[in-house]
Amino acid sequence: MLNNYMPEKPVGILSMQGAIQEHEQMLHGMGVNTLRVKTPKHLELISGLIFPGGESTTMIRLLRFTELIDPLTFWIKKRCLPVLATCAGMILLSSKIENYPNQQTLGLLDIQVIRNAFGRQINSFEEPINILNYDHPFNAVFIRSPVASTLGKEVEPLAKHENLVVMVKDRNIVACSFHPELTGDTRIHQEFLKRVEKWENSQNLEVRCS
Ligand code: GLN
Repeated sequence: MLNNYMPEKPVGILSMQGAIQEHEQMLHGMGVNTLRVKTPKHLELISGLIFPGGESTTMIRLLRFTELIDPLTFWIKKRCLPVLATCAGMILLSSKIENYPNQQTLGLLDIQVIRNAFGRQINSFEEPINILNYDHPFNAVFIRSPVASTLGKEVEPLAKHENLVVMVKDRNIVACSFHPELTGDTRIHQEFLKRVEKWENSQNLEVRCS
């Protein structure tokens, strides 16, 4: 196994609903401690945050209920906490949902998305995709996945499927519309841990988003 960075603090997993355990299993398998983030206080104890897949409508409701929206905005926007978002997580962070314009989002990731862009649960599929700077394809599992339909100026597209953008980077946020936690391939989580390392090493100096 490749040598991963072992963060000083646990990696947070936003635990409103969804594929929480699957991300935990992947990170524990890599020897990394995790913390289930359910309250604003938890955000002070972590060095990076995963937004799992699940159901974005339920998640936004629970985020309001737990009063996590403002603290998340503070940690992600002002403190540049490294984020990895998958599927519903990408929807939650986006600035707008084209086909559900009234659904609230966090507006921290400068993209517009289309929910369920490849169809319903029954249309789920697995497909090798090419990711920028990865030396071999990544087996991507798409389950009612969104796509990024409009990208802000600073947003880098990292992967496409059928010419639709399915992975992006916007400063401290990497978001993919598929489920890397459901494969044995740890490369996306490894890249996330590298950003966590950089963040842990720079937070006492000038905290930078990059
Ligand atoms: N379609 C779901 C939503 O809109 C996302 C699906 C997923 O996370 N697997 O929230």
